[in-house]
Amino acid sequence: MLKKVIILGAGCAGLTAGIYTARANLAPLILAGNKPGGQLTLTTLVENFPGFVDGIMGPDLILAMQKQCERFGGTILNEDVESVDFTQKNFRVTTRQETFESQSIIIATGSGSIWLGLESEQRLIGRGVSNCATCDGYFFTNKEVAIIGGGDSAMEEALFLTKFANKVTVIHRRDQLRASKIMQNRAFNNPKIVFKLDSCVEEILGSDCVTGLKIKNIKTLEIQEIPVNGVFITIGHKPHTEIFKDQIDLDPKGYIIVSNQTRTNIPGVFVAGDVADHTYRQAITAAGMGCKAAMDVEKYLSSLV
Ligand code: NAP
Repeated sequence: MLKKVIILGAGCAGLTAGIYTARANLAPLILAGNKPGGQLTLTTLVENFPGFVDGIMGPDLILAMQKQCERFGGTILNEDVESVDFTQKNFRVTTRQETFESQSIIIATGSGSIWLGLESEQRLIGRGVSNCATCDGYFFTNKEVAIIGGGDSAMEEALFLTKFANKVTVIHRRDQLRASKIMQNRAFNNPKIVFKLDSCVEEILGSDCVTGLKIKNIKTLEIQEIPVNGVFITIGHKPHTEIFKDQIDLDPKGYIIVSNQTRTNIPGVFVAGDVADHTYRQAITAAGMGCKAAMDVEKYLSSLV
């Protein structure tokens, strides 16, 4: 059956779009993928989402959004989208199980942090390993943390963390930082930040939570263990846009190009959240964009009749 709207992705952006389109009686189909919930499912306590005085666990917030969306008639399927065809009048979306057709689409597939790829890193995510200082920095008040990476994000996160942590060690794989000069200078001038250059992380130490890092100097090959309570991996993000490559305009880094708030270059295909936003990347900004995309879809659909 032809759908009015299909939403690809079920993180904060996709589910907010789901709630709004469901309440507008558009009976949205949300294709959530095999790992639904987006970035919030990787975090623990979310303390900056408005309305939760004592914070809310990321996965609980997502679960509440799912239920809210279903309550108004949204359908959520945990199926991975394998391909899309936006060249037809009715857009086609194919999962392993079936092909759906829809008059409009909201892409909200999000982005993912690039991780180091260590077993210890994956095991300790949410137990001291984080990819978001804004989300988790507060938990490290009066503790010692490390930042991995040498770009602007790493410097920004390091500076932010100095509000909480006693000491922030930036670990970077080369002897030159990639960050802009102004950000480098701010970091160099902050007495709480120290640098370990030419260094790679061999292992994140700790069984239940992070207790330290084993790092290797790539020039001297010296191995060193440093005690830290938290590690922030800040080596870049990657938008989830592989399946849209030949279908929709992407910028050189693979993010969907947006115009006029939520529109893509294809009329009827809208976008929300981190898949088009490499600046703010917050749950609340993704939710806000999801709301806008849903309202824009409503307008678009009424223009078709
Ligand atoms: P980025 O500029 O791509 O920097 C990533 C950093 O991570 C680089 O230093 C890189 O090392 C390192 N890295 C990458 N893969 C690694 C690995 N496997 N192991 C260890 N280190 C690794 O990413 P970003 O910092 O997120 O910035 C993205 C864009 O947003 C940039 O254009 C940046 O200027 C912009 N941004 C601006 C601001 C600001 O102006 N306030 C804030 C945040 C972001 P190498 O240097 O050796 O490649």
